[in-house]
Amino acid sequence: MNEFDFIKRIKNKTRMHGDFSQVVQGIGDDAAVIKPTSGRQLVVSADLLIEGIDFLRSATSARLLGRKSLAVSLSDVAAMGAKPRWALLSLGVTEDVWGTEFIDQLYEGVFELADKYGVTLVGGDTSRTPDKIVVDSIVLGECKEGAVISRTGAKPGDQIFVTGTLGASGAGLRLSNRGARITPVQETESEQRAIDAVLMRHLSPEPRVGWGMVLGQEKLASSMIDLSDGLSSDLHHICEDSNTGALIRALDLPIDPAVVELCGRRALDPLQLALHGGEDFELLFTTSPANASRLPKRVDGVTVTCIGTIEASDQGVRLEEGLRVWPLEAGGYEHFAARAKTV
Ligand code: ADP
Ligand code: MG
Repeated sequence: MNEFDFIKRIKNKTRMHGDFSQVVQGIGDDAAVIKPTSGRQLVVSADLLIEGIDFLRSATSARLLGRKSLAVSLSDVAAMGAKPRWALLSLGVTEDVWGTEFIDQLYEGVFELADKYGVTLVGGDTSRTPDKIVVDSIVLGECKEGAVISRTGAKPGDQIFVTGTLGASGAGLRLSNRGARITPVQETESEQRAIDAVLMRHLSPEPRVGWGMVLGQEKLASSMIDLSDGLSSDLHHICEDSNTGALIRALDLPIDPAVVELCGRRALDPLQLALHGGEDFELLFTTSPANASRLPKRVDGVTVTCIGTIEASDQGVRLEEGLRVWPLEAGGYEHFAARAKTV
């Protein structure tokens, strides 16, 4: 199969999946052409996954890799309060994978998530790499003019909320690095179920698209970010960009129950994972006290938890643990940190 046959195949697949009502030109020309909804702003984000750095081929599957590659960009668009609409997916693949079912399965994962959130694939790029797989996704979203939720709007007195649960992806990564794998058959044993649950949170994160859209449409959040590096680091981004401090209450953090179940016997600390683990892809947002009472209880079955309060910048970013209060350092993931980990 040459590159052009491949692109034709992808084009045929998109026809069965997408919504082309605002796509003037999809896959097949030099560039895609889109007619945005009038009165809306475009929100665009790209995310790159590199084999050996962001994923291990031996620890995931092609389908989950495809799914995650789109999920990470969807999460960024959700974190702006926008509705994701269109996507481009670029692939760098190795010779041994080209022409195998790996690529088809990768696109199955992409389309699975694209269909779930009403996103249409309109383009991408294809190239060969010497030894590592690279997947880059770009997602375009829309929101009402002036309605994006940036990182700059937090105010002292605002409450800090997080969707879903924390720490599972970090636990999944660490167990994966110790050799844990998803069980192919449904195990009934509770511990294996908890292991599968945290591995899946790492390998197949669910972008909080519904929450992002509700918070954006209803203007409920004063600032927002998605948790990709880790709560501590991402909260620091909001506080720096908004020029505020923050106080987080350790006891209120919604630590994932599977993390609590697994960690005791594995020398993993649930609180550390929840604070610094990274890749939870939950939404962290701030809300004025008046808006906090207007928040829905659940969106798409996902709850939110109030975990603290925005304070004046001279208070710094702090963690309250029982009667003690400590500075909360940014301890999340950095690609070029002195000790950057691989996957
Ligand atoms: P060019 O050489 O001008 O970049 P390509 O042959 O790379 O053209 O791309 C032709 C068309 O196929 C474009 O519409 C492009 O967006 C699409 N395309 C290429 N690779 C992919 C891919 N991996 N996934 C989706 N669309 C792709
Ligand atoms: Mg090209």
